[in-house]
Amino acid sequence: MALVNEHYLKLSNNYLFADIAKKVKAFQVSHPRQKVVSLGVGDVTQPLCPAVVEAMHKAVDEMARKSGFHGYGPVQGYEFLREAIVKNDYLSRGIRIDISEIFISDGAKSDTGDIQELVRWDNSIGVTDPIYPAYIDSNVTIGRAGVWTGDKWSNVTYFPCTAENNFVPQIPQQRVDMIYLCYPNNPTGTVLTKQELRKWVNYALKNDALILFDAAYQAYIRDPEIPHSIYEIRGARKCAVEFRSFSKTAGFTGIRCGYTIVPKDVSVSTFEGERISLNHLWFRRQCTKFNGTSYISQRAAEATYTPEGRQQIQQTIDYYMENASKLLTTLRGLGYECYGGENAPYIWMRTPDTFQKELGAMAPTSSWKFFENLLYGANVVCTPGVGFGPSGEGYVRFTAFGSHEKTEEALLRIEKWKNDEL
Ligand code: PLP
Repeated sequence: MALVNEHYLKLSNNYLFADIAKKVKAFQVSHPRQKVVSLGVGDVTQPLCPAVVEAMHKAVDEMARKSGFHGYGPVQGYEFLREAIVKNDYLSRGIRIDISEIFISDGAKSDTGDIQELVRWDNSIGVTDPIYPAYIDSNVTIGRAGVWTGDKWSNVTYFPCTAENNFVPQIPQQRVDMIYLCYPNNPTGTVLTKQELRKWVNYALKNDALILFDAAYQAYIRDPEIPHSIYEIRGARKCAVEFRSFSKTAGFTGIRCGYTIVPKDVSVSTFEGERISLNHLWFRRQCTKFNGTSYISQRAAEATYTPEGRQQIQQTIDYYMENASKLLTTLRGLGYECYGGENAPYIWMRTPDTFQKELGAMAPTSSWKFFENLLYGANVVCTPGVGFGPSGEGYVRFTAFGSHEKTEEALLRIEKWKNDEL
C-alpha cells in the first residue's frame, strides 16, 4: 500500500486563481451578455519582442541540422547565457558573481518552491505578509509550515506589511532560520530601500539565517536608489540565494526561463557544526531532479541582453508601467487608497469602508466582498488581497499586465460603477 504524504492534504484544495476563475465563470453563466475585463491574474499580455523571436527561430533552425543539434544541455545552463547574466545583470551593478554560482531554471516558481528541500524539515520559516503563495505551500508539503489555524500556518512567522507600517516588514525579535523576501513585491507592488534590506542581511548574518530573495520583478524598478539585487548589500553573498525570471522581464511566462544565484559563500550547518556549501547541494539536487531548460529558451533569454533586445524589452516594460501609472492616477482620483505601481507592475488598493446596516456603522469591506461587488457591479476582475495572506485582508490587487485598451476599459467601468453607487 502506498501511503500518502499527509502534508499534501493540508494544502488548500483550491488555488487562489482557480477560486477566482470559478467565481468569474459563475458570473458569466448567469450574465451571458456581460463581458468581463480582468485585471486579476498577473500574466503578461504583450507578444515576445522581435530580437527574442529571431533568436528562437535561429535556434530551431540550428536544431534542425545535424551539425547544430542540441540534446541535453549542461545542468546549470549554457555558458553563453550565464556569461550574459554575469555581465549584464551583475557586473554592470558592481556585483561579482561567478558563472558557477548561476543555475538556469525553467522559471522562478520551481526554484523558489524547490530550494526548501535542501534544509531540514524542522527549520523555522518567516515570510513577509502578504506573500506570493508558492513559498508557503512548498513548505507545507514537507511539514515545515505546521497546521492551518484558520488564517495562518502555526509554524510560520509572518512579518505584516500594511499601510500602517508603510509596507516595511519588521525584523523579528526571535530566531527564524529561513526568510522569504520578494522585492519588488508581489502582491503589494512595494519596494525596500537599501537601508531596509541591509537590516535583513545583518539579521541573517547575525542569526546564521538563510534569506531566499525573489527578484522576479526587478526590471520594473524605476527609482535608481532601489536595489535590484540583494547582492548590492555587503555580506549578502554569505546568507542569500536570489531568484530571477525572464517571465515578467521579457514576456517568457509561456517560454519558461529563469535563474537562481547560489553563491559559493552560502552554507548551512549539520548538527555537528560542519558547514555544507549550498551551491554544491543545489548542484547535486539539480543533477538528480532537473534536466535543464531548453536550448531554444536559453537562446531566447540570451537575446534579451543584446542592444536591440534590451531596448525592445524595455519598451514593453514601459508599456506596462504606463498602465500602472494610469491605474494609480485614476483610482486615487476616485478616492481609493492605492500603493505600489511605481517600481512594480501591481497596484495594491485598500477596499473602502462602507456603511453596513446590520452594524449601523462604517466597516471595512473584506477583500472577497469587494472582489464580488466589483465583478457584479463593474464586471471587472481584481485579486482579493487575503488570498496572499492574512495581512492582505482589506486590500485587492490590480495587475498592470493588461493591454492599454483593457486597462482603460476597466477604469472607465470602475469610474461609472463608483459614480452610480454614490
Ligand atoms: N515569483 C513571483 C513573486 C511571482 O509573482 C511569480 C509569478 O507570478 C513567480 C515567481 C513565477 O515566475 P516564473 O514564471 O518565472 O515561474
